[in-house]
Amino acid sequence: MARVALVSGGTRGIGEAISIALKKAGYTVAANYGGNDEKANAFTAAHGIAVFKWDVGDPKACEDGIKKVEAELGPVDVLVNNAGITRDGMFHKATFEQWREVMSTNLDSMFTMTRPVIDGMRERGFGRIINISSINGQKGQMGQANYSAAKAGVIGFTKALAQENAKKGITVNVIAPGYIATEMVMAVPEKVREQIIATIPVGRLGHAEEIADAVVYLAGDGAGFITGSTLTINGGQYIA
Ligand code: NDP
Repeated sequence: MARVALVSGGTRGIGEAISIALKKAGYTVAANYGGNDEKANAFTAAHGIAVFKWDVGDPKACEDGIKKVEAELGPVDVLVNNAGITRDGMFHKATFEQWREVMSTNLDSMFTMTRPVIDGMRERGFGRIINISSINGQKGQMGQANYSAAKAGVIGFTKALAQENAKKGITVNVIAPGYIATEMVMAVPEKVREQIIATIPVGRLGHAEEIADAVVYLAGDGAGFITGSTLTINGGQYIA
């Protein structure tokens, strides 16, 4: 039986590439998304991957959504916590609402998405949890105090969860991407993007597929000795 992988935010950007790569690697994939039905419908039609809509920041929605995924596809063996948003701006102008939105989608989701699958993984003695953080959670970024805090939290969460579950056949790791050419980054003004590229030693933005390949590796049996680690994929922009 193929292993089941659930990818949050799995219909667009980096998540889309992850869903496609996991399917190609033989997994049965469920792609969660937040609200963009048009994109999700096009994605499922193009790739034959089941899509499931719910808000990863909402505990009840996650519980219900994951129950539905497991009823339709089977128990989740691989969880990729990828959904994320930004609400950028200098902290002295920030609102608590922006802070909460970023925390909800990027950090609360670590709890809401992982809690419903962890018991089953422990019982079955196998699990792979791969959390998508960011270079800006490692180094901090002006204009992203909220996002930097949430993404740093993802790394702390991962390290603790890895220790708790190591004896149960479950690995928990972080991927910290640098700047990847998705809608999130292409929405940044071109001039700012050029300035960003100038700080990347390899001289270009990353491709979503370069993150997806690493997810496939961490999900596989060959990566069973890697847990609690942070894999930076950033073209050398920040070497932790
Ligand atoms: P995109 O904006 O391209 O895609 C985001 C995905 O997350 C979409 O599928 C979206 O669904 C989904 N999503 C957003 N909010 C929710 C929610 N509340 N509940 C469920 N799904 C939601 O993002 P990227 O692909 O660029 O980013 C993916 C991850 O990688 C994020 O965690 C991001 O922080 C991180 N990252 C990205 C970098 C980059 O350069 N792009 C760099 C470093 C980290 P819908 O389509 O329905 O809106």
